[in-house]
Amino acid sequence: MSLVPMSDILEKANKGGYAVGGFNMNNLEALQAIIEAAEEENSPVIVQASEGAIRYIDMEYAVAMAKAAGEKASVPVALHLDHGSNFEKTIQCIRNGFSSVMIDGSKLPFEENIDVTNKVIEAAHAVGVSVEAELGKIGGTEDDHTVEDKAATMTDPDEAVEFIEKTDVDALAIAIGTAHGVYKGDPELDFDRLKTINEKVDIPLVLHGASGVPNDDIAKAIELGINKINVNTAFQQAFTAKMREVLEDPDVYDPRKICGPARDAMKEKVIEKIRLFGSNDKA
Ligand SMILES: [Zn+2]
Repeated sequence: MSLVPMSDILEKANKGGYAVGGFNMNNLEALQAIIEAAEEENSPVIVQASEGAIRYIDMEYAVAMAKAAGEKASVPVALHLDHGSNFEKTIQCIRNGFSSVMIDGSKLPFEENIDVTNKVIEAAHAVGVSVEAELGKIGGTEDDHTVEDKAATMTDPDEAVEFIEKTDVDALAIAIGTAHGVYKGDPELDFDRLKTINEKVDIPLVLHGASGVPNDDIAKAIELGINKINVNTAFQQAFTAKMREVLEDPDVYDPRKICGPARDAMKEKVIEKIRLFGSNDKA
């Protein structure tokens, strides 16, 4: 089937009490690993590309690859822009065929975040594309953007209510103590905050920076209302660890013999996350 809007996938997850992975595609092998895993697990899946990934792959290549994957796949696939930094970037993605975009106005003052989110929603919803926004600042490093620990701020539940009242956003990324990239220590998630937010708002909530979060904490976050979980770092680590292993043999030179096993290793990791999130057999 063709690419589906992310809201189709997340509305079901919201009703069903499970989460769907927002899995980052950084190259062809990563996309293949995600799709193969989703098909084997009969899971809906959100393939996402950051602005950095789009620069690396090229916009036309990225969309063509994901569209082909969506058409061939036996499960629903959404193509989502991860952390769109401004209105222009989101529109470029919509114009090129993304079925969903994130507008990350979290670094802006509250009212400006609402304004830019509404601007994107007006254009996106007109053509059936869903929109994720972010409220509160998630720490760590995503592509070339770093939020220092002291600058990371948790999402205020009352602001979340106001944000959703003033926008028609399809999903909201919240900051409850996770961080992008590799964790320095163990993350401490603010579950009370998540519970409060989930009691006050009924749209799907998104957890970013989930790679280093213990499985028990992920399960608890889903129980308390998280419906989309972004994973990137854990997949990159699985991919690269396998490459290192294969490259220990100095006679290996065929890229397919290096990237192929790396792709398989990533696929195993994707399957693990799909089962943890509970989206298996939900396609
Ligand atoms: Zn993120």
